[in-house]
Amino acid sequence: PGLFDRLEEQKSDSLLQLIALCNADPRAEKIDVGVGVYRDAAGGTPILRAVKEAEKILLETQDTKSYLGSQGDARFVELIKPIVFGEAAAADDRIVGVQTPGGCGALRLGAELIVKANRAARIFVGQPTWPNHAPLIECAGVEMVAHPYYDRDTQTITFDAMMDALEGANAGDLILLHGSCHNPTGADLAPDQWRTIAELVARRGLVPFVDLAYQGLGNGLEQDAEGTRLVVEAAEQALVAQSCDKNFGIYRERTGCLFVKASDARGAGVVMGNLLGLARTMWSMPPDHGAAAVRIVLDDADLRRDWRAELDEMCARIRAIRARLAAADPRLAYIDRQNGMFSMLPLSKEQVLALRDDHGIYMADSARINIVGLSDESVDRFARAVVEKMD
Ligand code: PMP
Repeated sequence: PGLFDRLEEQKSDSLLQLIALCNADPRAEKIDVGVGVYRDAAGGTPILRAVKEAEKILLETQDTKSYLGSQGDARFVELIKPIVFGEAAAADDRIVGVQTPGGCGALRLGAELIVKANRAARIFVGQPTWPNHAPLIECAGVEMVAHPYYDRDTQTITFDAMMDALEGANAGDLILLHGSCHNPTGADLAPDQWRTIAELVARRGLVPFVDLAYQGLGNGLEQDAEGTRLVVEAAEQALVAQSCDKNFGIYRERTGCLFVKASDARGAGVVMGNLLGLARTMWSMPPDHGAAAVRIVLDDADLRRDWRAELDEMCARIRAIRARLAAADPRLAYIDRQNGMFSMLPLSKEQVLALRDDHGIYMADSARINIVGLSDESVDRFARAVVEKMD
């Protein structure tokens, strides 16, 4: 038999299939709430003004494409660090960071570091979670322990069940937490829940691994980092997988960082050496362009201000649509208490398929919707169609 004859056929990505189905639907009034990228009122995903400006500057001023090394753009990492951890933590030499190919790269690198540090460490992951978490973590060889997080039918975080499950974690085990905003549910932990987890982490010697992929798209850049800062502060060791792909709108540029907090500066130096070694075995060096553009934006007061303004506009659009959906029917009121681009509707797979057939409304089979797939024109129509199916 040939080398590849033993490979098993793989299921194709269901969200990509959904895009194809939606594209093929001739109905003018169809609604696409499937794809997980930010969309403006006109349905587009434009390049942010400050990013476009930074790219022009980059084109004019970049004078070499020589290697940068496995850490990537060190200045970029230095500029992202205070955005994630706050100005006060920027100089904390227990926290080291490397540039990664997006949040995915950061999650994978973090998982590799965990396995290398302790083969027996397990990671506790709330359900449901982003479908790519398990493959990214398990392919590195980290054992995943699933626990309840959110009940779709009552639209609540099952916090007590989550805390009960976490009581079963051993010192040195990890907890995967969505910094903000939760994908796929939109249900972020409340400040007092973050505090309870921070206490548990400190008391039991657990290691938070925070996935911070949507900072600035929930309630604002600073507010969206509060939970992350709380647990990282409380923990002796922690990891944060950060992504710029959403809050700078540079999805295909694959731009992010992995930050790791060690017990002391010496330990952090050892971690850094290991991160560089692991990165070399996977991508050698991260792609430069996105990080270089972000660096230029953050290093320039005017561009930085304009980025913040445009990010706030995006955040406000998400909040406005959430409010409109919530106002449309009491059964959708919970949507306004959630954050970010995603929410999960209490609909069965059959109801999801019926919305597709009857109204040309395209959402994932899990009933996850992308809030910004809706426009002023479609939001009420969408709410009516959904509520009708809930009856
Ligand atoms: N974490 C979550 C929760 C995500 O939704 C995503 C992207 N969909 C990522 C991480 C990875 O982001 P990136 O595109 O930067 O790899």
